[in-house]
Amino acid sequence: MNSTAASSSSSNGQRFPAFFRSALHLLFPQTCAVCRQDIQGTETAHGLCPTCYDRFPVWAGLVCQCCGVPLPDGGEHCYHCRREKRSFSFSRSAGLYEGSLKECLRLFKYSGKDYLARPLGRFMSKTLLTIPGHDEISAIVPVPLHFIKRRLRGYNQAERLARVLSEGGIAPVCSDRLKRRKHTPSQTRLNRDERKRNMSDAFLSRPWPASLGARVLLVDDVCTTGATLDSCAHALIEAGVKSVIALTVARQL
Ligand SMILES: [Zn+2]
Ligand SMILES: [Zn+2]
Repeated sequence: MNSTAASSSSSNGQRFPAFFRSALHLLFPQTCAVCRQDIQGTETAHGLCPTCYDRFPVWAGLVCQCCGVPLPDGGEHCYHCRREKRSFSFSRSAGLYEGSLKECLRLFKYSGKDYLARPLGRFMSKTLLTIPGHDEISAIVPVPLHFIKRRLRGYNQAERLARVLSEGGIAPVCSDRLKRRKHTPSQTRLNRDERKRNMSDAFLSRPWPASLGARVLLVDDVCTTGATLDSCAHALIEAGVKSVIALTVARQL
């Protein structure tokens, strides 16, 4: 368990008296990263207005019990999970990759707005608490970026999300075992089979000691086909992890 996580939280308005917060807001007015509306008070710590946060699209219907893709026509497993064995036990996403959530993730990932990890992580943690076995998670592992990409972006977005999730005390973050061993081209234009080939053997994990526990929560920002999560889970299982549950902020349809 991570007992010190909360102490590392980044600056937030509650550390300062209301007077100073108001004065700061007058001097440096802050706006919502998504809709540009003026925001103030404790909301400034999150960089997002409550309206945009509340509009994050969620799927309330049935999902594939394995990969978490929405199943509007019902059923237990999607077409692909009936045919392919996955390395993760199951995968879930907090919302859909649409609307304000899509825009928030775009800003978080490509515009350097790393502070959006906080509202996005909070959004994920609500889903995490509904996942069966969440209280048995022993470590949170972010999907790694290739070091060149990490250097260019300045941070790994999945790791930022993992750290916010860890602040809830569920488990510590372990980001030094799983590595990306090949620089994979962008997957946005690839179809399902190409993504799978692109991701095969993309990750490698150092041996997983028993002291880190048996059940891992694998974290990423967006899940499209699940190929990246599957490849990471495969590497972790090979290294000695017993089971992997995956959680992403959004599911792309
Ligand atoms: Zn807004
Ligand atoms: Zn599925």
